Amino acid sequence: MTVRLFGCVCGQFHSSGAGMGMDAERVSVPIPFYVIDHPDGLALFDCGVPATMCDRDESYLVALRTQGMDVSLTPEETLTAHLHRLDIDPARVRYAVLSHLHFDHVGGLRELPNATVVVQRAEWTAGFEREASQHYGLRKRFFDLGHEVRLIDGEHDLFGDGAAVCIPSYGHTPGHQSLRVRSGQGDHLLVGDACYHQGVVESRRFPATADHDAMNQSLDHLLALRSAETVMVFGHDPAQWGPSPVLPAARG
Ligand SMILES: [Zn+2]
Repeated sequence: MTVRLFGCVCGQFHSSGAGMGMDAERVSVPIPFYVIDHPDGLALFDCGVPATMCDRDESYLVALRTQGMDVSLTPEETLTAHLHRLDIDPARVRYAVLSHLHFDHVGGLRELPNATVVVQRAEWTAGFEREASQHYGLRKRFFDLGHEVRLIDGEHDLFGDGAAVCIPSYGHTPGHQSLRVRSGQGDHLLVGDACYHQGVVESRRFPATADHDAMNQSLDHLLALRSAETVMVFGHDPAQWGPSPVLPAARG
């Protein structure tokens, strides 16, 4: 049995272009998460925004709008809806590997009752520190939900066979990580918010709150890990999720 990798888009994030390292005044970018179907269990890399954000009056959305940001999410785009289209019962998901603790990467955790959260220790620790969590915008209400948590330090081979390897890529947040996946779909480097989109590889326009030295180092490291066959999948790149998405998705 081979390993299969799927990409799903869980709504759109709307913000100023500057906030996403883009030139346009306002931009809308996809919020992807990934499903790794491995013989030893199902793993997700990130889990999108919470299904409760289908409601325009959800309290965090209301707060985001006061800061010039917004999320749009339809019932067909929730994590649970994507998993159902892939014929996956969310209760069967074994691992939720989190790139970092921002709401648009951990929001679907509440829909995964039996998953073990796999996160860098530096990220989880920051999530519970007052100053760091405020600076980086890490909100416990989205991730501190009583899941079993596996804290890792640096590289971590999730299944022990090289199919899914966590790669530390700190800087966007204190313990951000990426995931290298070797599957029937080829070699993918899911970089998360270590790089929002292709343009940032050159421009190095990183978010204001991030540690820019660390982000530069992390991105250089990720770029060096690529082979000729590796496809780099960025954190929020509209060009990768258009009519011909970079990864196969669940069919409706
Ligand atoms: Zn993000």
